[in-house]
Amino acid sequence: MEKLKSLIDDLNLKYIQNMNDFTKFLLLSEEELAGMPLEFLKDLEETDGKRKVLLTGYYVTPILEHCKVGSTRKQIAVAYGQKGGNQNVAILEKLVQIRHRLARLLGYSNYSDFAIEPRMPMTSRKVLEFLEEMSEQLSDLANRELTVLKELKMKEEGDAQFGMEDLLYYMKRGEQHKVDLDIGEIKRYFPVKLVISGMLKMFQDLFALRFEEIKDVEVWHDTVRLFSVWDASSSDLLGYFFLDIFSREGKYDHTCVVALQNGCMCSNGSRKVPVAVLLSQCPKEFDGNSALLRFPEVVRIFHEFSHVVHHISNRATFSRFSSLRLEGDFAEIPSLLLENWCYESISLKMMSGFYQVILGIPLLEGTSPASCFPRIAVGYDAVCYSYIWSEVFAADLFATKFKDDLLNQHAGLRFRNKVLAPGGSKGPLEIITDYLGREPSLQPFIQSRTRNAL
Ligand SMILES: [Zn+2]
Repeated sequence: MEKLKSLIDDLNLKYIQNMNDFTKFLLLSEEELAGMPLEFLKDLEETDGKRKVLLTGYYVTPILEHCKVGSTRKQIAVAYGQKGGNQNVAILEKLVQIRHRLARLLGYSNYSDFAIEPRMPMTSRKVLEFLEEMSEQLSDLANRELTVLKELKMKEEGDAQFGMEDLLYYMKRGEQHKVDLDIGEIKRYFPVKLVISGMLKMFQDLFALRFEEIKDVEVWHDTVRLFSVWDASSSDLLGYFFLDIFSREGKYDHTCVVALQNGCMCSNGSRKVPVAVLLSQCPKEFDGNSALLRFPEVVRIFHEFSHVVHHISNRATFSRFSSLRLEGDFAEIPSLLLENWCYESISLKMMSGFYQVILGIPLLEGTSPASCFPRIAVGYDAVCYSYIWSEVFAADLFATKFKDDLLNQHAGLRFRNKVLAPGGSKGPLEIITDYLGREPSLQPFIQSRTRNAL
């Protein structure tokens, strides 16, 4: 068995190496890149009057979303789709066989059952039922939306042949069409300073917490801020968090949360408090003006800060159940739930300077920010259902407990105590059922998708 495990590790590594070793690029003229914003073009190296486009997600996704030239989108999508090549297909086939052998050796009938057993659905059968139900409930809606996208393409390019390379572009077009508001246009309305202060205020109000900044403390960079977290009514110290949100050279280039210390009950009866750091890549302030964020970046920071609050609200007795390494399908539910606040005028008012203009944004709920989550074959084996699974639970929690009163501290405090506090010490399904007072339902998710359809 050890041999099989190390074989799997080797193949995983090779698969990722093949992706990283892929250095192919495309040379495209400005006409071929029509529709791309100036800042994007400026970022591309110029060779013989053409722009060099590396085939990484950083360049490929914006082109698939914004480039008006259908043949360019196709060229990019095809080239990107060949990343890793036949080598990786062969590796994946081998991986499937070896994983199956490993699962059989452990007494499971297949690898999915092995991978899913410790997660919320527990069996692959349950996952299949879930996916079938989703497909049954959403197929009509998906077909209707596809018809809208095809009509948009017909209007713009005079061509009804709709390919995968058109999907992102016309989804963006459809959303703009519906809301008539370009997210890029309102970039100036999200100053970093206001986003952070608005976000901190919202979390304090909703969850009955008090954040106090600790000044004059030794940190690893002068832009890093440290806060203590207190229970607003009992004034108990709950934990600490660092905000390290500005980009700088050599810094880890990801937005994420790292648990620096888990909370737990010590043998002498005192409590060790949790500590977390939020890392992000916000642009620095310039000329005394607060730097500005795009809306998706606001959502991202909000999502990650929800993980911070989850970590600090944890009251589990043992450190083992107190980290961010919660059961996979459960860990994302609170953050996906709290993302909803970004689309509501009440929190947008707190985070933006010109809220009157942005009140149109709630309609953008259907943009589904969670769908931009990177999924790769390795590391998500047999659990690709997970994100949408979490979205379903988050939608139910939002619709049932918060939708009609976003700053309802009573609901917030109950959520903190019943859902966030147990951490990994109770089963996720038990936690959510207990909080809702009934079994979770798929319907709020379906309704929200239907309501926000193109
Ligand atoms: Zn997350």
